Amino acid sequence: MFDKKPILSNFGELISMNYKRNNFMTVPARVKIKKLLASEATEQQTNVKGWVRTKRGGKPVFFIALNDGSTINNIQIVADPELISENTIKDITTGAAISVIGKVVASQGAGQSVEIVAEQIEILGKADPEKYPLQPKKHSMEFMREKAHLRMRSSTFSAVFRIRHSLAFAIHQFFHEKGFYNLHTPIITANDAEGAGETFHVTNFDLDKIPMTDEGKVDYKQDFFGKETNLTVSGQLEGELSAMALGEIYTFGPTFRAENSNTTRHLAEFWMVEPEMAFYDLNDNMNLAEEMLKYVVKYALENCKEDLDFLAKRADDEDKQKPQNERQELGLLERLQFILENDFEKVSYTDAIEILRNSKPNKKKKFNYIIEGWGADLQSEHERFLVEKHFKKPVILFDYPKDIKAFYMRQNDDDKTVGAMDILFPGIGEIVGGSQREERLDKLTQRMKEMDIPEDELWWYLDTRKFGTAPHSGFGLGFERLMLFVTGMGNIRDVIPFPRTPDNAEF
Ligand code: ATP
Ligand code: MN
Repeated sequence: MFDKKPILSNFGELISMNYKRNNFMTVPARVKIKKLLASEATEQQTNVKGWVRTKRGGKPVFFIALNDGSTINNIQIVADPELISENTIKDITTGAAISVIGKVVASQGAGQSVEIVAEQIEILGKADPEKYPLQPKKHSMEFMREKAHLRMRSSTFSAVFRIRHSLAFAIHQFFHEKGFYNLHTPIITANDAEGAGETFHVTNFDLDKIPMTDEGKVDYKQDFFGKETNLTVSGQLEGELSAMALGEIYTFGPTFRAENSNTTRHLAEFWMVEPEMAFYDLNDNMNLAEEMLKYVVKYALENCKEDLDFLAKRADDEDKQKPQNERQELGLLERLQFILENDFEKVSYTDAIEILRNSKPNKKKKFNYIIEGWGADLQSEHERFLVEKHFKKPVILFDYPKDIKAFYMRQNDDDKTVGAMDILFPGIGEIVGGSQREERLDKLTQRMKEMDIPEDELWWYLDTRKFGTAPHSGFGLGFERLMLFVTGMGNIRDVIPFPRTPDNAEF
């Protein structure tokens, strides 16, 4: 009788007549657990559906903690074993999906305001306790990664992915409020000239029979697109074209880098937010990035409180396992608050090199890469020293040597540096990379020659410098790096639902 569909309201009269005459049951509408927990003890009948976290007790009543993904909190179901069939009770195990009809009452126990006194329980899908991997105990992150198809059922990962949604939403809201247009740039492209990283090839060749030219090279003319193509490493170049027409745009899409860096901060497939703005100089660019980061962190603090509280406690517990000198000075919530309350420190690359050269870990050769002098590329250890030890707040490094940066960055008058900027965050290192773009055609083509970048492949890019060129700037924010910072998770594999890393493309 449980599976009767609710009867349409325009037959309302008929139902109540039938109800009296035949004692028909109408099924109350399903309510999400988040909404129920925020409601009063109405004493009304309701329906909840979700996955069993735990079952405990027995006689005279047993308790089910039920979660439906709408909140980190479970609703408590109180059930009388006399009212529920023995078979059903047996199948109420961790991981099973169930539907419960019962009354919303004030909770007797601590920890929740309302609970449900079950009248009927239906098993929607069993979860064999011998086989279901996520039993209610602490599992290692490595174990959870192997169970990525189920790990969102845990408190930690459901919190992480609710926050991921909120941060994405906040980013769209931030740019929308500022009059930026969200622009979809291509995933398949023929340009890797940006040199941002190793690319993944895109082809529909039969890999066992690749057509070759007379010179023994792969004959891309016969490939799907008639030329060599790859997955995008960045939407920037197309973003620039759009900014030079729409004014201010941003992309938010997947990017792909075949970099073989097996670190806790690199993925082969990651999401990037890339705004491009006409008429912005480097300083405007830095200010926009700071404003955006503060906006989204504030949004998370205001809208993801319960999930953040949970993750903060988790991060604290993790931290306690570490040796004293590796522990965080501030808790997760304090770190987020700290970002809001402090101006980011703007430091030129040249000043940063001096600080690093004279730093203790450099002099005592504690860095893996010793900073000898100007021109050195900064490694993550140096970035983290600047942020965590020296300035103790987010740092924006700007005006980098042109030789360690991309061809499109605007050349400064000193002939040595370009108008680049990187934002460095505590615990993360680089979270944003950006620059003012070179808008002067002659300077741009001269730099491309120096760097052996063929002009004919980027003719369309150069056209923007020929027709109505103007100063403009932009940056890329690695969305998962932002996620790491906001959630306090330690590994980038744990802030994207299905990570793609070297030797791993499961699920
Ligand atoms: P890194 O030096 O950390 O590898 P990058 O200099 O290669 O970064 P950019 O090319 O400037 O990075 O990309 C812009 C942003 O994208 C970076 O600031 C970072 O937040 C993010 N990012 C870059 N590579 C990755 C990756 N493999 N996985 C996740 N995020 C990344
Ligand atoms: Mn990189």
